[in-house]
Amino acid sequence: LGGSISRALQQMSNATIIDEKVLNECLNEITRALLQADVQFKLVRDMTTNIKKIVNLDDLAAGHNKRRIIQQAVFNELCKILDPGKPCFTPKKGKPSVVMFVGLQGSGKTTTCTKYAYYHQKKGWKPALVCADTFRAGAFDQLKQNATKAKIPFYGSYTESDPVKIAVDGVETFKKENCDLIIVDTSGRHKQEAALFEEMRQVAEATKPDLVIFVMDSSIGQAAFDQAQAFKQSVAVGAVIVTKMDGHAKGGGALSAVAATKSPVIFIGTGEHMDEFEVFDVKPFVSRLLGMGDWSGFMDKIQEVVPMDQQPELLQKLSEGHFTLRIMYEQFQNILKMGPIGQVFSMLPGFSAELMPKGREKESQAKIKRYMTMMDSMTNEELDSSNPKLMTDSRIMRIARGSGRQVHEVMEMMEEYKRLTKIWSKMKGLKIPKKGQMSAL
Ligand code: GDP
Ligand code: MG
Repeated sequence: LGGSISRALQQMSNATIIDEKVLNECLNEITRALLQADVQFKLVRDMTTNIKKIVNLDDLAAGHNKRRIIQQAVFNELCKILDPGKPCFTPKKGKPSVVMFVGLQGSGKTTTCTKYAYYHQKKGWKPALVCADTFRAGAFDQLKQNATKAKIPFYGSYTESDPVKIAVDGVETFKKENCDLIIVDTSGRHKQEAALFEEMRQVAEATKPDLVIFVMDSSIGQAAFDQAQAFKQSVAVGAVIVTKMDGHAKGGGALSAVAATKSPVIFIGTGEHMDEFEVFDVKPFVSRLLGMGDWSGFMDKIQEVVPMDQQPELLQKLSEGHFTLRIMYEQFQNILKMGPIGQVFSMLPGFSAELMPKGREKESQAKIKRYMTMMDSMTNEELDSSNPKLMTDSRIMRIARGSGRQVHEVMEMMEEYKRLTKIWSKMKGLKIPKKGQMSAL
């Protein structure tokens, strides 16, 4: 996918005269790639029509970086599709809200309910889980198990067969207990059936949720639009969560879900575990959709900014799969030294959301400098180890003392390191170009 887009863009930049034919060829390639990523045909067609209007052929002929202009235009259009234009209801801490989850069986509702509860619990909320799935055998046990693990109160029944009654009782119980985030998990069916939608309508009518979240599996493909629309027609879907983004699917169906429900994507699921859950961030998502978030695209870009042969050892180490704190330190040095590289990094999944949010570059720089001060208080052993267990409490306390920072700040930095390790581990096995062979990349 990334390959075909790069090729298309490459063709553009090689063409000396930009004419309509070349632009069309390029857009055709991009269309194919987006369809492969499960973006709905109609959305792709509308987007390319828009691009043709936006991209001024005369400007392109005169300008230097045609490739960038086309790329940016496609990128912006896709971001726009993901923005429904209005924010969704946001629950307020301390004020009771009811959030209902809907989606087909297997989409990841029950797992996502727990992730959503756990995410808020960590931020000081009092969440609670209600199992209104009486259809799937073992549904209550599954929710109970998840909830117990996360120490979140739960409600359900082994004997009651009416999901509406359970939902109402559960919501009432937790309202009395002053829970501020009451999450109602519902049943799904393998197929979209009238009975399911009628059940969702009744549960919603009885519990009056402040927010209904539609959960979709990232791999559902072209079916996403109809599915999302069907749910929207029976309940007031206000937000979307895309699950299983850790798999191969690029999740292009999310664009359809946004279009069908006119609701934003708010989180993505990136694994089976409770903490594999991220706030949705448009740019890395679109990068991935276009195949730009992968490492080949990254290497292309980084090459334009930093001559790679300036840091051969670093690349060597990364290709061996060792992402140490020292490497992170060196990366931070690079980020601070070269402005543009920050932009390169922010295109990658994981980098932009937390480390370097857009519009807050100053703060991000301060944070990076703070991290580096803390790392200055580390021993060589700590900097060069790739064993996370090495960082014992006493070491963390020593580092905090030595750098004049708080223990929680050191821990925050270690979390950041862990997060980046996960991302950078993808560099393993990367082919490192020899000096002077950069174009072979
Ligand atoms: P439900 O039928 O909609 O309630 O779906 P479940 O929550 O039971 O999830 C179905 C399967 O998908 C389970 O095996 C989950 O562990 C798995 N699952 C859910 N979310 C994710 C995710 O983000 N990544 C991965 N890899 N698996 C997930
Ligand atoms: Mg379930």
